[in-house]
Amino acid sequence: MRYKIALLPGDGIGQEVTRAAVQVMKTVAESFNVTLEFNEQLIGGSSYDKNQTPLTDETIQACYDSDAVFLGAVGGPKWEKLPHHLKPEAALLKLRKSLGLYANIRPAKIYDALIDSSTLKKEVLDGTDFIVMRELTGGIYFGEPRGFDDKRGFNTMVYSHEEVERIARMAFKFASERNKKVASVDKANVLEVSQFWRNIVHEVHKDYPDVQLTDMYVDNAAMQIVHNPRQFDVLLTSNLFGDILSDIAGMITGSLGMLPSASIGSKYALYEPVHGSAPDIAGKGKANPLAAISSAAMMFNYSFQMQKAAEIIEMAIERTLANGYRTADIFSEGCELVSTGQMTNYVTGYYTDIFNEQALGVFTL
Ligand code: NAD
Repeated sequence: MRYKIALLPGDGIGQEVTRAAVQVMKTVAESFNVTLEFNEQLIGGSSYDKNQTPLTDETIQACYDSDAVFLGAVGGPKWEKLPHHLKPEAALLKLRKSLGLYANIRPAKIYDALIDSSTLKKEVLDGTDFIVMRELTGGIYFGEPRGFDDKRGFNTMVYSHEEVERIARMAFKFASERNKKVASVDKANVLEVSQFWRNIVHEVHKDYPDVQLTDMYVDNAAMQIVHNPRQFDVLLTSNLFGDILSDIAGMITGSLGMLPSASIGSKYALYEPVHGSAPDIAGKGKANPLAAISSAAMMFNYSFQMQKAAEIIEMAIERTLANGYRTADIFSEGCELVSTGQMTNYVTGYYTDIFNEQALGVFTL
């Protein structure tokens, strides 16, 4: 098999963590005997410096021509004073829109080795493994009319039937391949748009009778994520609610440097760590590459249907952490402080070990 990956490292640590992810991707490709073809393009501030725009047509075209897009991060103080449409972050919005990425997926999974560094108790967290599926291209962030004057400000939360149906369908599909539970989050007791959302989710549910559906008000969902996160499998939410809930869900399981994400549409998919370009540590070899590496695992899983590869990458991350290797952001007493490059070498080394162990039929974590 041959897969084309549009590689957009971006700015700051985006470049360092993308390098790390590519090292892992190449190791995976070799072990599974697939060919990965990388097309590297500029995005964000580094694109602005060369082309006076944070996103060129050439970069968008490379994404259109790809089987998957991998992005590092964009932004930094150097470009902060640019007008809004030229800022590095404007490239992200435009790219998501151009690729029609309507579903954002963020896993909330706890690595055993990091369970003690969470702000939640171990017994609450143990076994937590769910995804937040957030609608990304509709809702109040895009609804018209919008605006403000001296007397009032307003936005419009609007969803079309098609927008709700396609994200609901994706949530049920994912759940049917996981633990067969969808919790659909809304505010149907107050908002008509939420009642509309709920009706359509129930309609789509009829096609997935083996998946259990629960409706949950958004305020309760926020409480439940910190009270009993183990109960969730797929948490389906609209754009605004998902913005908030995915951050809560991410943080209960660890640091920003650990959080991967996928944004998926009907034709294209983009994988990126949740964190930004971290100008405070850029170029120092201090960046935690695990969010990016885990995003690569999602790419193998969702875009290339290489579930086994994704699983082994996650096991390699788990083993790296279990053996006490930590970048500064997740460092704790008794562990060994390592650089971005060293951490990546450990993950690729363990990946190869686990791959070989599985091939030989001997397996231990
Ligand atoms: P940030 O995520 O870049 O950094 C926040 C803090 O977390 C910093 O102290 C940073 O050092 C630390 N951190 C983040 N990722 C880390 C990693 N992998 N390893 C170790 N530590 C890590 O957020 P910010 O400082 O608010 O923003 C910096 C720039 O990034 C801004 O220009 C912002 O607009 C941009 N940004 C981009 C994206 C994106 O590209 N998707 C997302 C968020 C922020």
